[in-house]
Amino acid sequence: MGGSGSGNYLRWSTKSTTGSQHRVDIRWLKKQGYLRPGASGLLSWSRGDEQTGSIGYRMEHDRMILNYRHRPHGGEWEDVEQTISFDRTSCNYGGLRTWLLCPRCWKRVALLYGAGRYFFCRHCYNLTYGSQQVQRYDRLMMKARAIRERLGGSDPSMPFPEKPKGMHWDTYQRLREESEQANHLSWLLIGKQFGFDDGWVEDMIGE
Ligand SMILES: [Zn+2]
Repeated sequence: MGGSGSGNYLRWSTKSTTGSQHRVDIRWLKKQGYLRPGASGLLSWSRGDEQTGSIGYRMEHDRMILNYRHRPHGGEWEDVEQTISFDRTSCNYGGLRTWLLCPRCWKRVALLYGAGRYFFCRHCYNLTYGSQQVQRYDRLMMKARAIRERLGGSDPSMPFPEKPKGMHWDTYQRLREESEQANHLSWLLIGKQFGFDDGWVEDMIGE
């Protein structure tokens, strides 16, 4: 996670998006000095040189407000604003430690994950490190991504790539189906783990 923290409050930005690997880390925010009430800016994530997403934030005394745009697979971009409350506990050696309260289960956590439209804790997304479900989810996402890349497009938020010149339509259709099925299954998996109903899953996969 990186951030500008420049103090420029960002209104809805068309560039602010969130994706499955994005997380908000309270310890990192504190270390950067971003927890001051009134602070605002942009948090961004990247993989290698490529920026994979960013969100606007602004701090208040006991909460932070995030805003970004989210697009369910195949759906329309929508503006999302999410308020994350803070909790504070005293440390043994004095001082206070700030925590994030998961907006879904109200557990005190240091990390929230943007695996869907909202940021929730890993218990809610069931992102247990190394769990079979996560490995399966990762494999499905990687498969969907690998097929896109083979067809010349890597950004999962973009429409599915066109058929490359010289590729047979049969091959293209088969790859497209495989990619979309993998993507679909990955969302079903996450939705089920999340304990959300089918409506949520359909919403996430845009059907
Ligand atoms: Zn939670």
